[in-house]
Amino acid sequence: MIERIFVTEAAVQYAYVKKICDRAELEPELIRDDAAYRNDIERFLTDPVGQGKRHLLLDVFRGEFFRKCPGTRGKVCCNYYVIDQTSNCPFDCSYCFLQSYLNLRAIRFAVNVEDLFRELEAVFRRRRFIRVGTGELADSLALEPLTGFGGMLMKFAVEFPGVVLELKTKSSNVDELPDVRKKPGRGVIGWTMEPAHVVNNEERGTATLEERLAASSRAAKKGYGIAFHLDPVVFFPGFEEAYLNLVEQIFSHHEKLDWMSLAGFRYEPALKSYVEERFPNSELLDGEFLRCSDGKFRYLFPERIRFFRRLVEKVKQLSPKTPLYFCMEDARTWKLVMGEKALTDPVLTPIFLREGDDEE
Ligand code: SF4
Repeated sequence: MIERIFVTEAAVQYAYVKKICDRAELEPELIRDDAAYRNDIERFLTDPVGQGKRHLLLDVFRGEFFRKCPGTRGKVCCNYYVIDQTSNCPFDCSYCFLQSYLNLRAIRFAVNVEDLFRELEAVFRRRRFIRVGTGELADSLALEPLTGFGGMLMKFAVEFPGVVLELKTKSSNVDELPDVRKKPGRGVIGWTMEPAHVVNNEERGTATLEERLAASSRAAKKGYGIAFHLDPVVFFPGFEEAYLNLVEQIFSHHEKLDWMSLAGFRYEPALKSYVEERFPNSELLDGEFLRCSDGKFRYLFPERIRFFRRLVEKVKQLSPKTPLYFCMEDARTWKLVMGEKALTDPVLTPIFLREGDDEE
């Protein structure tokens, strides 16, 4: 998966660097900084996105790791916080926005995790409730066999009551994670799920559907809450039955989830050329799309609403107590699919506490 490890001058003194290189069985290549990677390595790559995913750049991050998820203009906010410690991912999904979003092609991994923990401790001590995750610019557990970072972060976070830490992944790397039973905080592992057709066609290097489901059962046994994200829902011939079957498979493994999110496939215009050039067999752009107010392209509104209604009905029928929410959809979509009271549904209150509700 990782073929080369680059270490910046700032990072080389950290013991964590040696641990990662030893686990990867790779000799570190010393570089001045990330600019040197761009100038000396990246610009000579023939497939910068694909090859960059096999390069791990160990660096020191001097800014703030913790931030509120910016959400998207005009869409309902789910009050989620994110930790940006890693950016980019060794997996390769055709729909991944990181292809057009990141300006460095290697996977950048900050080794100064003590600084991160110090920053988080100050935040976690102040809060009565916070839902936070690391899966915004990376897969939270894809590099776990090399870095062990997800496990370290989880061990730290679950000691704080009111902290809910979600590690979001398409891997099955849960076996090295700590047992979190009887901890004051809550650890959640969230899997992004797609029918096998989409996994096979659009997601390179990820765990299979069966592997993700089996891993979710193992994680539950260690005390983790389980979440699933049907995101992005992709339209393809037979997609409706495929997603409804997927929901059945999920709830044959788990009676109730900590939460489930839904989101239709959407894309920024810049993503299109990456899909066309890098994924010649992709079916992702085959549907009919309309540009929305936030500048992203989405499937036609009536088709989205019609299918979301079927999907929501299925989830509610199989697990009425599972909190279900939309990611990056507007209030109108919520109400049309889930009814007028969708946004004030008490089942969502524990996970949707607004900023300010939770501060002492
Ligand atoms: S697993 Fe997530 S972060 Fe990684 S390539 Fe796929 S969509 Fe992007």
